[in-house]
Amino acid sequence: MSELKCIHGKADCFYEHYERKGEAQHQTHYCPGCGHGIAHKLLAESIDELGIRDRVILVSPVGCSVFLYYYFDVGNVQVAHGRAPAVATALKRAHPEAIVISYQGDGDLAAIGSAEILHAANRGENYTSIFINNAIYGMTGGQMAPTTLMGNRTTTTPFGRNVFNDGYPLHVSEVIATLEAPVYVERAALGNIKQILQAKKAIKKALETQMKGLGFSMVEILSPCPTIWKMDPVDAQKHVREGLAAVYPLGAKRDRTREAEPRPAPVPAPALEELPRILKLDKGSDTPAPVHHETVDFRVKVAGFGGQGVLLLGQLLAEAGMDYGLEVSWLPSYGPEMRSGTSNCHVRLSNKPVDSPFVSSPNVLIALNEPSLRKFIATVEPGGLVFYNGTTIPADCIRPGLRMHAIPFFSVADELGSTKVGNIVVLGALLSATGVLPLEVVDHALPRVVKAEKWIEIDRLALRRGASLLSPEVPVHV
Ligand code: SF4
Repeated sequence: MSELKCIHGKADCFYEHYERKGEAQHQTHYCPGCGHGIAHKLLAESIDELGIRDRVILVSPVGCSVFLYYYFDVGNVQVAHGRAPAVATALKRAHPEAIVISYQGDGDLAAIGSAEILHAANRGENYTSIFINNAIYGMTGGQMAPTTLMGNRTTTTPFGRNVFNDGYPLHVSEVIATLEAPVYVERAALGNIKQILQAKKAIKKALETQMKGLGFSMVEILSPCPTIWKMDPVDAQKHVREGLAAVYPLGAKRDRTREAEPRPAPVPAPALEELPRILKLDKGSDTPAPVHHETVDFRVKVAGFGGQGVLLLGQLLAEAGMDYGLEVSWLPSYGPEMRSGTSNCHVRLSNKPVDSPFVSSPNVLIALNEPSLRKFIATVEPGGLVFYNGTTIPADCIRPGLRMHAIPFFSVADELGSTKVGNIVVLGALLSATGVLPLEVVDHALPRVVKAEKWIEIDRLALRRGASLLSPEVPVHV
């Protein structure tokens, strides 16, 4: 008997074996008649035929096809729900020589990830998106997707999709095709052999678009989901041909592959060792050496109005603490108003890892106005320190057992030339009262926090003026 030639075999870029738990080892993760198996095969064959297997990085989504990486013997990254375009963007920019393919279902791409795909396409990112549209959430049990057809009953539209309640089916390919940047967008389907062969052509063309460096390419594939549609596989394929394809017309929605020019190569990323210098995190030789801190547990609440420099004060304290070898956290909290709204921040400096950045019982309260003092005074820990921006502490705010300083910090700053540095005057006073950090460490951190150079000198003056304020003449309520 003459030897038979195998003309349809396993694509090389599929693993020889895939692992499944327990008794399910003999079957794939997909239901009988599911389109994912066919789409996987088309993609795998295209990768083989283009000879790009060693360069491919697949980005798999959340959804039925999350287990893509069990089948494809290529680079694989599994990502959070809807975030495949962002990760594909990063992978392609970091590895321009790689062929990056994201594979997403309609729940993933058209619902939670709709902003991601829109912006990746609009930027013309040079990766390929394979978008499997079965018009339903499969893995989670049949909720309505943006692509669900009108009138279809789902677990979240039990009376059928209604335009006034649920809107219209979202035509993702048509939307993407209206953008300037995408190079190739085609909708294909898996409804019969002819459609499947056309789907493979489209996948190959999309990959070639990326290989030529032309820009964003996407193939939407209308795909059967017999399980959730509650159809047998044959009827499900028929529904792809006659139901889905009637609403979502097949064919190229955008094809600029002939006229598009290759995109310029991405700007190479700086070397890792350069990052501290670029981010101005290099400490330089003049930073005082960190000391061994026996016990530091500073829980600081800074509160005032927006515009008083509340957040900057906290940030500077945290930055300097970090330089000094302490564990730090800084947690801002402010209203929607830029100025005059309430603003506060929580700062922790510790010689131990910080368990929570939230400061509910501060041992230092910096209240830059009376409402803040009234609001937070009751939360200060016994023995704690309070700095109040005012000439006297309101009588009903005095709490025995606290060290309370009332100083008009912003008036002091005014004498220096600008009320804007009142927050730094407070910081100087805090450092002198507690000795938690040397002034020089704050000096060094200043340019990283205060970006405008013109303020650095006056800030340094303010720091020292603040440190000089706690003379014995200043009244302290204890
Ligand atoms: S639920 Fe639908 S999409 Fe998911 S594996 Fe089953 S048939 Fe495929």
